[in-house]
Amino acid sequence: MNTGPLVIKIGGAGVDEPARATLLWRAIAEAHKLLRGQLILIHGGGRAVDAQLERLGFTTERREGIRITPHEQLDQIVGVLAGRVNKALVGAIQAQGVRAVGLCLGDGNSMRTIKADQYSFDPGRVGRVASGDPDLLRLLTDSRFLPVLSSIGLDDEGQFLNVNADDAAAGIASILHARGLVLLTDVPGILDEQRNLVPQVSPAEVARLIERSVISGGMIPKATAAVRAASAAATPTIIASWNNPDDLVRLARGETAGTRVLPG
Ligand code: ADP
Ligand code: MG
Repeated sequence: MNTGPLVIKIGGAGVDEPARATLLWRAIAEAHKLLRGQLILIHGGGRAVDAQLERLGFTTERREGIRITPHEQLDQIVGVLAGRVNKALVGAIQAQGVRAVGLCLGDGNSMRTIKADQYSFDPGRVGRVASGDPDLLRLLTDSRFLPVLSSIGLDDEGQFLNVNADDAAAGIASILHARGLVLLTDVPGILDEQRNLVPQVSPAEVARLIERSVISGGMIPKATAAVRAASAAATPTIIASWNNPDDLVRLARGETAGTRVLPG
């Protein structure tokens, strides 16, 4: 097992309205203490972006759970994710007494991103992880600052790229040799056809669930990122709900919750 930090990705409504998720920030602060500062947060913010784009009259398109990112929408997406949402999260966490630092993937070259080429369609300014430099994040966690990363990347020319936050979290987990990855979302984990929680899945079962469209939309990049991270670290990735903060404290103690996505 790796000995790096625990990486937690926060998605869904907990990100858009941090004031509604006080129990989550309290659990994050507790996990930060239990882990002696070895914690890194990554966030999405899809709903906040959707709302801003709609206000400006843009239309939003997603394919296979990925936001199609036309060049003309990029400044707005960066403004919402790396600006307003990121700083609101820093504020919510600092209100719990933890010193948080809001960054994007490109800060300190923590993650080098290049234009995504893994899709059968052109997603526009969507990035994928190319490589990374763990120094800045280690410097921060070793001094007990909590890094809070938006999923905005910079390419080699300094241009913005929008990275799916689950992909970004799996990338950071790999760069930092994380001890584990937790993906928090609006649902309790991966749900089956009857919408019952699946407590544990193998990579082959994830592929089958996607094939049968039981896993769809935003759960596609989430489940595949979970498989990738689990296999790279040889330890399960957890998909759980942000709305059940006790789970988070249990996970920080090494116990389980939600869906365990097993390594291949
Ligand atoms: P996040 O902001 O956390 O990334 P997404 O909306 O991108 O959230 O992805 C999570 C969503 O995926 C769930 O809220 C649910 O609507 C959808 N989903 C699709 N298939 C499944 C499934 N089999 N189990 C659970 N959620 C699923
Ligand atoms: Mg998502």
